[in-house]
Amino acid sequence: MDVRRRPSKALRPAPKEPSSAPEPTGAKASDALPLPLYFTNALFFTLFFSVAYYLLLRWRDKIRNSVPLHVVTFSELAAILSLIASFIYLLGFFGIDFVQSFIARASNEAWDLVDEEEGEDHRHRLMACSPSMADHIIPAVSSAEDEEIVDLVVKGTIPSYALEEQLGDCKRAVRIRREALQRITRRSLQGLPLDGFDYGSILKQCCEMPVGYVQIPVGVAGPLLLDSFEYIVPMATTEGCIVASTNRGFKGIYASGGATSTILRDGMTRAPVVRFPSASRACHLKFFLDNPSNFQTLADEFNKSSNFARLQGVQCSIAGKNLYMRFSCTTGDAMGMNMVSKGVENVLAYLRNEYPDMDIISISGNFCSDKKPAAINWIEGRGKSAVCEAVIKEEVLKKVFRTSVATLVELNMLKNLAGSAVAGALGGFNAQASNIVSAIFIATGQDPAQNVESSHCITMMEAVNDGKDLHISVTMPSIEVGTIGGGTQLASQSACLDLLGVKGASKELPGANSRLLAKIVAGSVLAGELSLMAAIASGQLVQSHMKYNRSTKDVSKVGS
Ligand code: ADP
Repeated sequence: MDVRRRPSKALRPAPKEPSSAPEPTGAKASDALPLPLYFTNALFFTLFFSVAYYLLLRWRDKIRNSVPLHVVTFSELAAILSLIASFIYLLGFFGIDFVQSFIARASNEAWDLVDEEEGEDHRHRLMACSPSMADHIIPAVSSAEDEEIVDLVVKGTIPSYALEEQLGDCKRAVRIRREALQRITRRSLQGLPLDGFDYGSILKQCCEMPVGYVQIPVGVAGPLLLDSFEYIVPMATTEGCIVASTNRGFKGIYASGGATSTILRDGMTRAPVVRFPSASRACHLKFFLDNPSNFQTLADEFNKSSNFARLQGVQCSIAGKNLYMRFSCTTGDAMGMNMVSKGVENVLAYLRNEYPDMDIISISGNFCSDKKPAAINWIEGRGKSAVCEAVIKEEVLKKVFRTSVATLVELNMLKNLAGSAVAGALGGFNAQASNIVSAIFIATGQDPAQNVESSHCITMMEAVNDGKDLHISVTMPSIEVGTIGGGTQLASQSACLDLLGVKGASKELPGANSRLLAKIVAGSVLAGELSLMAAIASGQLVQSHMKYNRSTKDVSKVGS
C-alpha cells in the first residue's frame, strides 16, 4: 500500500515596544527612579529604621538628662527630616496599591448598585460626570502619548476604526482600542489576550477593530487512512468528545483497510437578482442565458478577472419580473466567493448593455445560497460535492465500537433517515457532521459561517458481505473550502493546513489542495458518524460525555 505520512500618517511616533509587551498598566512612580527599584527600597528602609533608632536614643538621653525635647541639634533636625522623607517614600510606594484597590472596590460596588437600582443609562451619565474616577480604577496604557490617544477615542474625537490607519502600527492600535473600550464599558478585558498575535496579518482581510483574539484549543485525530494516504487531522473545538470520537472512528476505519473518497463536483456559486419591467422580459434573458451558443460569450466576460475562476454554467429561476441567475465556476484552491463575485459583476456589466431595461437589484439574490440552509445547495451542490465510504469489518465493530452491523443499520434508518425526515430536515440526515466540519473549518481557516451548508450530509449504512460487515458512506454536496485566501493565510491556520499537506496553492494542479481538503473533511465526518452512531448503539454516549465533557470539579458539584 502506498502510504505517505504528510503529515494615513501616524499621529505621533510610536513608543518603542517591549520585546514581550506587557498588558497595559498604569505608569508607576517607580518608573521615574534613577536606581533599580529594589536598591531604592532597601535604601529608604534602612534610612527610616536607622534614623528612627537614632532619634529614640537621643530622646532617651534627653529624658534622662532633663533636656527639653523640643530643643534639637542640627543632627537631630537632619534625622527628623530624613525620617519624614523616607516615611513619605515608603507610604507612597506601598500605600498607593492599597488605596487604589480600596477605591476600585468601593466604586465597583457603587456601579453595581447603580446598575441594579437605576439601569445602564444612569451609569453612563455617571461615567460622563466623573472621568477622573475611571482613571483611578482602570489601568492606563504604557505611555503618555498613548494615554492621550485613548482619551481622544473615549471622547469620540478619533474613531476607533481609524486607529490602524492613523497610527500606522497595528499592535499599538489594538492596545489603545482595548484600553478605550475598557474605560467606556467599565469592563475588564483581562483573559482576552493581546500579545502573541500578528495584527498586521488580519488588516483589511480578516477582522476589523480587533481588541485581542480568542483562543481555541486544537486537538489532533488520526491517522485517517483515506485513498491509501494517511492524514493527521487538526480540529479546533471546545466541546469535549469531538476529537476523541473522531479519533476512534479513524481507528476503526484504519483497522478495516481505510476509506475511499470521490469529488463529484467542484464549483462555487453566486446568484444575482435582476428586475425587468415585465415577466416576459425577464424570461427573455433567461432564454438567452440558457442558450448553449451564448455560453462562450458569457464565459469570456466572466473569466477575464481571474486566472482561476472558470465559468461552468448559469442556472436561472424566475419570480415574476425578477430573474435569479446562479453562476457556477471553478475557483482553483480558493474557496472562491470573491472570485465568483467579480466574475458575476463582469457578466452583469455586459448584460446591462444588451438589456438596458435590466435593473440590478443585488449581486446576491440568495439563490446562491451562501450561509443559509437552502435546498438548492443540498440538491445541486456548492463548493465541493464529495462522497466517502468504507467497509467496516465485523470484528472491528465488535472490538473497537462494541456494537454490531444489524444494530447500526437499524439505528441509522430510524435516526438519520426516518428521524430527520420526521423533523423535516434539510441536508441534516446525519448524526454529527457539523461537529467535525466546524472543528476542521476553524483549525484550517475556513469561513465558519459556511458550516451551515458545508455540514449538509446524508449518512447511509448497509450490511454487506452476507451481513457480516458494515458499508458506511457520507454524501456531502456542499463542502466550501479553500487553501488560499481569507483566514487560511494566518499563521495558526496555515500550520494546520500544512499538517495536512494542503497549505496554499497546489503547484501541480490548481484546485488539487482544496479538493483534497474537502475529501479529508468528508473522511473525518465518516469517522465521526461511525463513532457516534456506535456510541449511541452501545449506550456509551452518556458515559463518554461525562468523561470528556465534564471536569472532575463539575461532576462533584453535580453530586452535591
Ligand atoms: P476567495 O475567492 O476564496 O475569497 P481570494 O479572493 O483571496 O479568495 O482569492 C484567492 C487569491 O489567490 C486570488 O487573488 C488568486 O488569484 C490567488 N491564487 C493564487 N493561486 C491560486 C490557486 N491555485 N487557486 C486559487 N487562487 C489562487
